[in-house]
Amino acid sequence: MKLLRFVLANLLFLSVNCLSFTQQEWMANELGSCPTIVSRADWHAKPPKGRTPLNTPVPYIILHHTDWDECFDFDTCAAMMRKIQDFHQQGRGWDDIGYNFCVGEDGRVYEGRGWDTVGAHAPWYNFHSIGICMMGNFDKKVPNRESINAVFSLIKCTVEKAKVMSNYTLYGHRQVRDTTCPGDDLFAEIQSWPHWIKRESGSCSTIVSRADWHAKPPKGRTPLKTPVPYVILHHTEGNECFDFDTCAATMRNLQNSHQQERGWDDIGYNFCVGEDGRIYEGRGWDTVGAHAPWYNLRSIGICMMGNFSKKYPNEESISAVYSLINCTFQRTKLMTNFTLYGHQQVSDTNCPGDYLFADMMLWPGWVSNGCMLSSAWLNFLTHQKRSKLNNRWDQEHTTHLLRKGRARNSHFSLQNKVYVESYLVRSSTSSGHRLSQGLSLWRYAVLAWLGTRYTLPTY
Ligand SMILES: [Zn+2]
Ligand SMILES: [Zn+2]
Repeated sequence: MKLLRFVLANLLFLSVNCLSFTQQEWMANELGSCPTIVSRADWHAKPPKGRTPLNTPVPYIILHHTDWDECFDFDTCAAMMRKIQDFHQQGRGWDDIGYNFCVGEDGRVYEGRGWDTVGAHAPWYNFHSIGICMMGNFDKKVPNRESINAVFSLIKCTVEKAKVMSNYTLYGHRQVRDTTCPGDDLFAEIQSWPHWIKRESGSCSTIVSRADWHAKPPKGRTPLKTPVPYVILHHTEGNECFDFDTCAATMRNLQNSHQQERGWDDIGYNFCVGEDGRIYEGRGWDTVGAHAPWYNLRSIGICMMGNFSKKYPNEESISAVYSLINCTFQRTKLMTNFTLYGHQQVSDTNCPGDYLFADMMLWPGWVSNGCMLSSAWLNFLTHQKRSKLNNRWDQEHTTHLLRKGRARNSHFSLQNKVYVESYLVRSSTSSGHRLSQGLSLWRYAVLAWLGTRYTLPTY
């Protein structure tokens, strides 16, 4: 039924004519003030099931269309907002309507999650963007002048309130994900709007260069052919570092040990990230790493400095990894459909540690290689949907993962089922409460027994 609704929602196509809006109209709007925003109460929103605060100002604005009917008056638009919220909360299992704001062709701005809550509209970008949707299908027509003016005025107001950086980047949804959103004609239209840029020219956060951490020169190098299809995540299994001096020293130690003890050309990883929130350049994007046999020529290896077998890395370091992957993606060093693996998925190792591995399973791009998602695992993820972990990453992605997992479940292998479930038991020893919600007791006991009997398969 949910699937049917989803399909139907995506089959609504309308077509009329085209308009075009220019810089002039934008300029005219620069003089206006914040638009009146129809509050959640005004459109009779249901309360959100949860929320994650958004760190502002964010660098991106992502524009969407709903791919549903247009609306030209308050009553219809408010009803449409309720319909979208229902679909996102019930159909997709998200906390709330996915967008931060929506705009109708009645020229009104409708509050979705607002400026201060992370949205669910664009994986990899939810934590760094304000998502604005225009209600309607704009594949074969451009939204009317009133609604475009309302978007301009909303963006201007968002800049004034310092919720988005003044040098923000505007993307259409299709620039950051494989989708036709916001529709062909609206997408053509926004390319003339201020701050719209091609994805390739997106910016990267500061990376501590080799010179900055006093790297020794590499003994040799092999050029990496990009874009590569994989990102492989590691931990160093050594000490954590929380400031520049300690992290830079850790980098030098890693390099020494890799060059001298292991006889490699250079530090093995392409990049490392410290809990000081900084990204440290290892071999960089253009040199083959030495971090995961069979995958070095086809991956970017990222290490998180520390041992994450019994604890999670801090938020700063996780968002640094997030921004690094994002930036790697934007620089087209990664294929658009890239896969994120933990080291243990490609070698016989515990790297990147149980906690970090459990965390990264919820990151966009992560897939279970061959190990299909078992029903216990799906239950676990379903429960995780309510947890902090998932909120930090991406509701939309988890839902996608769940759907993917269910679709694949018809042909999973027993070995992998045992692997995933035994992993689940191992990783839940410190968080049994999470597991207990997803599994009945007898099942837990059986899995615990399996977990002690079964060792990780090598891939
Ligand atoms: Zn979209
Ligand atoms: Zn590793």
